Amino acid sequence: MVSVCSECGARAPGDAIFCPACHGLVVLQLEAIAPDAAALRRTFAERRLSNAAIDRSGVWRFRELLPSIPDECVVTLRENDVPLYAAPGGGDFADATAVAYLHLGMNPTGSFKDAGMTVAVSHAKACGTWVAVCASTGNTAASMAAYAARAGMAAVVIVPAGGVSESKLVQTLDYGATVAAIEGDFDRALAMIRTFESDRVAILNSVNPYRIEGQKCAAFALLEASDWRVPDWLVLPGGNLGNTSALGKGFREALALGLTTRLPRIAVVQASGAAPFARLFREGGELVPVKAETDATAIKIGAPASWKKALAEVRVSNGVAIAVDDSEIADARAAIGRDGVGCEPASAASLAGLRRLRRSATIARDENVVLVLTGHLLKDTAYAAQYHASGAPFANAVVRPKDARALRDLIERAGAVHA
Ligand SMILES: *Cc1c(COP(=O)(O)O)cnc(C)c1O
Ligand SMILES: [Zn+2]
Repeated sequence: MVSVCSECGARAPGDAIFCPACHGLVVLQLEAIAPDAAALRRTFAERRLSNAAIDRSGVWRFRELLPSIPDECVVTLRENDVPLYAAPGGGDFADATAVAYLHLGMNPTGSFKDAGMTVAVSHAKACGTWVAVCASTGNTAASMAAYAARAGMAAVVIVPAGGVSESKLVQTLDYGATVAAIEGDFDRALAMIRTFESDRVAILNSVNPYRIEGQKCAAFALLEASDWRVPDWLVLPGGNLGNTSALGKGFREALALGLTTRLPRIAVVQASGAAPFARLFREGGELVPVKAETDATAIKIGAPASWKKALAEVRVSNGVAIAVDDSEIADARAAIGRDGVGCEPASAASLAGLRRLRRSATIARDENVVLVLTGHLLKDTAYAAQYHASGAPFANAVVRPKDARALRDLIERAGAVHA
């Protein structure tokens, strides 16, 4: 693969994150690989039957389409081998009939960040880098800490003090990273990180193009699970917008390789208190950063680093970007739980967004829709507990039967629903 600037198109050094000429984000481009789609599909399918970790990983299984990294440097936890679930309850919630969840929360550390981290950490290891750093709203930190631990690398994460869920923080501590909490928000933490670019430190935020290469594999995993049929729509939450640019890239490459015959339309959903990209999509011009406010902390980002790349992907797919309110996210999250699936708040922006796009008739009732669930339910239990203690539509409060008879009544009533 070759490194090129996503803005001015200049060739960049292999390890650059920002273009030396214009400071644009660097992307990796596939060099001409002979597109024999049938042979590629067969290879990917055969690897799923293997017990080798790099074959079962839903990232490294697609290694022909990734930067080449020596096998002995590959650091994998068998990430991105994730399920595609039917979403009947989510479909009812949004008034749509053909909805599925691509559950990227079913990753080793519970979020899609693992798919990117395996490539970025492996690359850092191949380069002989010994310190990994990132700014994080929590999931990047947990993921980087885990992969750095597997690689024998030191990890330092910068998080906004008080801005990260307890579960994500505890994961990061468990995996042995140094956690530096700073005053200020994610955007400030990322601005600090950007000044550290050096040969000895690997910056593992989604500005790192190797992260994007790993995350694009979620598109391949989805296509593989759908027998290479392309959904009409892919709906996902947008924060820093690395994942939007990654998935868009994955679908474009699948098309270019002849693995598919069209692109899905991409719908990016932001929280209304952190929606500079949705606004940009509506009004045009340049992205105007905002002071982000939302309870969906994973998308509480006011100055998304990858907005230009994400905008290009949304445009080429004939997609949209919209915003939803926190209360819509909260109900959508609980509705997803009723499908026996569950996710963290930011992920549920996808279902809340689908409901809006159904109401505006942007998406037709029977179109095939895949909702990307980005993080696991257990990532933010405090949020869920608060919801269930509220009077919200899907709230499910703990009950306290006073004796055995009350308990028997309770069971009868629960069963009556199915009578
Ligand atoms: C990181 C993250 C997002 C946002 O992804 P971006 O690439 O920053 O747009 C959404 N949901 C969850 C759970 C995340 O961890
Ligand atoms: Zn440039």
